[in-house]
Amino acid sequence: MPTEPETDYDPSLGNKFIFVTGGVMSGLGKGITAASTGRLLANAGFDVTAVKVDPYLNVDAGTMNPFQHGEVYVLKDGGEVDLDLGNYERFLDIDMTFDHNVTTGKTYQHVIDKERAGDYLGKTVQIIPHVTDDIKRRIREAAEGHDVCIVEVGGTVGDIEGMPFLEALRQFAHEEDEGDFLLTHVTLVPYSKNGEQKTKPTQHSVKELRSIGLQPDILVGRCENELDASTKEKIALFCDVPTDAVFSNADVADIYHVPLMVEEEGLDEYVMDRLDLAEDAIPKADRDNEWRKLVTQDTHGEVDIALVGKYDLEDAYLSVNEALKHAGLEKNVDVNVLWVDSEKMDDDHEERLREADGIVVPGGFGSRGTEGKIEAVRYARENGVPYLGLCLGFQLAVVEFARNVLGLEGAHSAELDPDTPHPVIDLLPEQYDLEDLGGTMRLGAHETTIEAGTLAERVYGGTSCTERHRHRYEVNPEYFDAFEGTDLVFSGESGNRMEILELDGHPYFFGTQFHPEFRSRPTRASPPFVGLLDAVLDGETDDSAAAREEVEA
Ligand code: GLN
Repeated sequence: MPTEPETDYDPSLGNKFIFVTGGVMSGLGKGITAASTGRLLANAGFDVTAVKVDPYLNVDAGTMNPFQHGEVYVLKDGGEVDLDLGNYERFLDIDMTFDHNVTTGKTYQHVIDKERAGDYLGKTVQIIPHVTDDIKRRIREAAEGHDVCIVEVGGTVGDIEGMPFLEALRQFAHEEDEGDFLLTHVTLVPYSKNGEQKTKPTQHSVKELRSIGLQPDILVGRCENELDASTKEKIALFCDVPTDAVFSNADVADIYHVPLMVEEEGLDEYVMDRLDLAEDAIPKADRDNEWRKLVTQDTHGEVDIALVGKYDLEDAYLSVNEALKHAGLEKNVDVNVLWVDSEKMDDDHEERLREADGIVVPGGFGSRGTEGKIEAVRYARENGVPYLGLCLGFQLAVVEFARNVLGLEGAHSAELDPDTPHPVIDLLPEQYDLEDLGGTMRLGAHETTIEAGTLAERVYGGTSCTERHRHRYEVNPEYFDAFEGTDLVFSGESGNRMEILELDGHPYFFGTQFHPEFRSRPTRASPPFVGLLDAVLDGETDDSAAAREEVEA
């Protein structure tokens, strides 16, 4: 875990803050709404950053099960964080650091450590002011140097866990000058049976906010359709905000369309007005609209990519899905992700594998579903189907080759079969942690040296790349010789660690020990993913290419 320096903050640094809370229920997409607002402020020329507050007691997301909480997102400094930070990185096209994720666990741990060290000089250590001060410090430090900081408070207003954060927010509002602070509250506006938009849940959640001393400046109603004028008026009247501070957040086909909707609703302009930014903004006609162009372009056809994993849950592989989408945006095609459950490789799932134009085996931990993934690798290798293996998907490509080409019977990763006679994937001595007898995780951005003249060099357009990691196991150096002179080539390395593999004579068989999906952006697709789609499009049958050309014409 990255260490955290503590500095004295100055509340008058001059940044602007937009806090975002959620009411009624979770999963309303407040993060996407907030990130979209941020994107538009960035288009208007402002330097925007974000902080995600997670009221859970975990210190970081590193130990959380993807099935319960979605993927663990990895930052360049090695911070293991909530997947919402990935959305901020993608929408704002920024790289954040671990200190941009504030959790209850992190805050309490720090306060208790200070208490043990005697830093509070014998005082009674309390939630107010010690915990709330620490929360405010963290937010201000993360915002330092940026024009605007969006602070999303996870969970729903009224949750016990969220109380210290909302109290910190109340103090924050009090300390900031008018025009430097806005509170946006995102709630649900459901339809009644007879098709009426109902505002009562919104009224109740605003009441809840007010009972802890917070008055929202902006209300965003999450609804199937746009809010009616009368709904907005009613919300304004009961919740004490101007009618033009009530916005709708209707369902859209794709999250990348949310910034367009926010812009049409005028939320960005309203925010700039209220934060006194309007005068400094780039005039609307001159603003960057690459995003709009990209997400509204006409696509020419579609490709099917099989994603072979063990969690039937989009959020568990969120960044991989997004990276595939980004590559699709760059290549101008729609990417359909076909879910293949590696635990039950029944006829249905095998059928999907055969239907797919390309196959991805993403990262993972634990042995469940491993044999199904190895079968998928074998199918891709033997049938010349474009393949991308990410982290575990890289390791299993090594295992599959060792077993089925090198004839090393029972070869495996020592993580998944500790008794394997051929641990082709193993812990490197420096990954051992003698204290907990496990291995320590290798995390964050590390540079890989790429061998000239390889597929990897073509994919990355150079002889080095810096990508994010999250793994313990590695290709075992004792087996380097066994692969020497075979079709499986390690074309990228970092010291004695193998980082990239490719297969000679295969259209595209590419594996990375790192996770390129974490650096992929809508406007800057990740090279290995673009390479996968390039191979898929190159390999099209004459019929499908002709069909595509027809569409293009
Ligand atoms: N479980 C493997 C390891 O620890 C792969 C990790 C991953 O795919 N993120 O090395």
